[in-house]
Amino acid sequence: MTYVAADDRYSSMTYRRCGRSGLDLPAIALGLWQNFGAANAPETQQAIVLRAFDRGVTHIDLANNYGPPPGAAEEFFGRLLARELAPYRDELVVSTKAGYEMWPGPYGDGGSRKYLLASLDASLARMGLDYVDIFYSHRDDPTTPLEETLGALKTAVDSGRALYAGISSYSAVRVAQALEVAAEIGLRLTVHQPSYSMLNRWIESGEPSALDVTHDGGMGNVVFSPLAQGMLTDKYLDGIPEDSRAARGGSLRREFLNEATLGHVRALHTLAGERGQTLAQMALAWVLRDERVTTALIGASSVAQLDDSLDALGNLAFSDEELRRIDADAVE
Ligand code: NDP
Repeated sequence: MTYVAADDRYSSMTYRRCGRSGLDLPAIALGLWQNFGAANAPETQQAIVLRAFDRGVTHIDLANNYGPPPGAAEEFFGRLLARELAPYRDELVVSTKAGYEMWPGPYGDGGSRKYLLASLDASLARMGLDYVDIFYSHRDDPTTPLEETLGALKTAVDSGRALYAGISSYSAVRVAQALEVAAEIGLRLTVHQPSYSMLNRWIESGEPSALDVTHDGGMGNVVFSPLAQGMLTDKYLDGIPEDSRAARGGSLRREFLNEATLGHVRALHTLAGERGQTLAQMALAWVLRDERVTTALIGASSVAQLDDSLDALGNLAFSDEELRRIDADAVE
């Protein structure tokens, strides 16, 4: 059956302006990191992305290496763009990145101009796109001059292969340096993509913090893993289910789910219940309480998870007492 997007897709999503750019992003966006490769049923993947779009999630985040195997998520999304989403390209903000190892040899990893531009072209080919909306340097590469990495982003924008430029997982100091270099070469850095959650607050710390630096520099923040890869949900309250990221091994290591963390998560779960929310919803509301956060960038392995998470937008407010309780036994 031909997909037709829901008529009311813009009725309930909140959009936030990305820094001092002209780009609005949904307060919750969907990333295709782990659940959109060969390991998951294509029908489920498709249902999740289309449901997201039907609920106003206009921003889909990818990277060259998302899968598994690396590249598979972009290929999947390219098929969707060619069929179901073809009429909606101008309603979508598609991002991709390069920075982690993608192919063998010295030119398939890091922050060189050689790697970034070749990778962007390969991403465009996999997705069947002429341009992506945002192209990121996926991680700071201290062995490559920032002039070179950011120069590659500028070429991407100037050549029309990307509309906006971003950096991901740069420290506060490196964001500040990147902003200086970007100003020198005439590149506008629009967005930073750092990790952030109730269990991982590094972007708040330091004087100035990464949040301060990006805000002062006019950048938005698209924060990833706001559910701490699933730890800030009800998923692990009673052990490790078979159909979970922690059971598969990899990025969510079992040792993260230690008693100290789980004790804290259970206390948060109780508080979320008192607010009439699931823990996932409260975790998302919490990262969005700071207006400098443009977007909470989530993952989902089912439509039910996606729907649960998007319902966070029903209550983004916190009392001082709730914030105090969230901080009270925080484990870092
Ligand atoms: P989350 O913290 O949102 O974790 C997503 C996982 O949590 C899901 O796969 C699922 O686990 C579980 N989950 C999600 N919603 C619910 C729910 N409502 N109830 C119960 N469990 C739920 O984010 P991710 O770690 O997946 O990262 C999100 C995106 O951020 C990525 O897709 C990517 O685009 C980006 N990212 C960027 C990085 C970077 O370096 N720039 C690094 C990492 C991510 P399960 O699969 O076990 O069911």
